[in-house]
Amino acid sequence: MHHNPYAPPRARLSTRTPAMNESQAWREGDLAVLAPLGQLPPHCIRCAADAEQPIKERTVYWHTPWLYLLILISPLIYLIVALIARKRARVSPGLCSEHRTQRHHVVVGCLLASLAGIGLLVSGISASNSGIGLLGGFTLLAAIIFFLVKGRLVYATRIDANRIELKGCSEAFLASLPRRR
Ligand SMILES: [Zn+2]
Repeated sequence: MHHNPYAPPRARLSTRTPAMNESQAWREGDLAVLAPLGQLPPHCIRCAADAEQPIKERTVYWHTPWLYLLILISPLIYLIVALIARKRARVSPGLCSEHRTQRHHVVVGCLLASLAGIGLLVSGISASNSGIGLLGGFTLLAAIIFFLVKGRLVYATRIDANRIELKGCSEAFLASLPRRR
């Protein structure tokens, strides 16, 4: 199922008009950039085919990288300041039915692996078996890393008053966006 540029626009849940959306989303290198009220086009971010409707809205967060210096003082202070200072944006990254199914498998797989890891960790600790405990901890960590790499849709690399910069879109999707530079 590929996007047909001549097809009439599909009904959208958003109240914004398609013309406005398109002028407010563009690419810059490997970034998809949105104006503050801009929306991503309703295409799969992995393969650019028509996205399955309805597209789930997701919140992305970003804070200035300078805040990471606070970790050197105290991870807890960093966490509190980051939670207060982080900026958020609502974005709608689409997925086609195939890529939605694929991501569903990644999410379920990572969840099951995390639970297995926690189970091993707990039984390793209660049985004072450091081998099983380490195996559990490693399984949990691997599940989290795999989810961050394979399960993440898009993430913000900057959010300010003028623009939202997103990474994680495929080249096929980026190629469907107008280019600004
Ligand atoms: Zn797709």
